[in-house]
Amino acid sequence: MVVVMKERATEEEIDAVIARLIDFGMDVHRSSGATRTVLGVVGTGKVDPALISLLDGVHEVLRITEPYKLAGRTFKPQDTVVTIDDVRIGGDEVIVMAGPCSAETEAQVDASAAAVKRAGAKVLRGGAFKPRSSPYSFQGLGEPGLRMLRDAANTHGLKLISEVMDASQIELIAKYCDIFQVGARNMQNFTLLRELGHARKPVLLKRGLSATIEEWLMSAEYILSGGNNDVILCERGIRTFETATRNTFDISAIPVVKKLSHLPVVADPSHGAGRRDMVAPMARAAVAAGADGLIIEVHHDPDHALSDGAQSMFPNQFDRLMAELRIIAPAIGRSICLEPLAKRGWSR
Ligand code: PEP
Ligand code: MN
Repeated sequence: MVVVMKERATEEEIDAVIARLIDFGMDVHRSSGATRTVLGVVGTGKVDPALISLLDGVHEVLRITEPYKLAGRTFKPQDTVVTIDDVRIGGDEVIVMAGPCSAETEAQVDASAAAVKRAGAKVLRGGAFKPRSSPYSFQGLGEPGLRMLRDAANTHGLKLISEVMDASQIELIAKYCDIFQVGARNMQNFTLLRELGHARKPVLLKRGLSATIEEWLMSAEYILSGGNNDVILCERGIRTFETATRNTFDISAIPVVKKLSHLPVVADPSHGAGRRDMVAPMARAAVAAGADGLIIEVHHDPDHALSDGAQSMFPNQFDRLMAELRIIAPAIGRSICLEPLAKRGWSR
């Protein structure tokens, strides 16, 4: 249920409505926009909407039929902007996160960070805990990897996103990164999601390999209902009958989610396509479809990468993609890394 307060509702009236809802055993999430306050009401208690609609200051009470409440636009019509200092995800600017799949060595992380910064990325990506399909594959460097990533992010003036695979890693990863990444395989790790609801850093939640959009939004709801409002959704491709690409990159999910939810949506064309020659076309399409950002794997020497080398771009491919995005973004009213950049000298 959502309680929409009148435009001129006073703080006393809002507090009285909240107190009444809590008396009924409900949890109340307040969202104050420019003109009105909206209360998202969730929980297992029983409350009669007709009674609430009679309270002073209440404009209307809406029943929400979608199973997700806090993630939906009915509760919060205005877009959520996740802010990390001067980086705003979900605003006008398309934010690009880029870097290697995994941290491998100091030199590798630094070279990749330098390359993506030069091209206009705002956030360094890189995993220190890797969810690999095989237990015999490289599993990530753990804390030393996080340290390398943080040092490179600091050196090059980038924010840092890194994957958390288990609730027990939250405290450690929070010391190093600015955004937690929840991987596709953990989209329904509800213990992890609940714990991230209490974290004080943004969470990028990838869509599960076989998850519907509704299931994905329900997972976001776990984090939001714990009190963490800074959730970023990430489309990374889903498993279908098609085998020509690693996954089927669901571009239609971008406008669908933008319509259903106020949360920012980032696209991951690297895992979506799984081949570096397909990453740029998918990235261009994702921005054109309205993505608020991209997360892209870039490696200074992808042919020797310890994970996901085949889908990791060479720095010069990434440079060129960024130059193309600087043409596409303004065409749909968005900006992208507008600060002046040295000419890259790529040719068609
Ligand atoms: C990754 O970002 O390297 C990763 C493992 O992604 P996903 O969870 O989408 O497979
Ligand atoms: Mn990867």
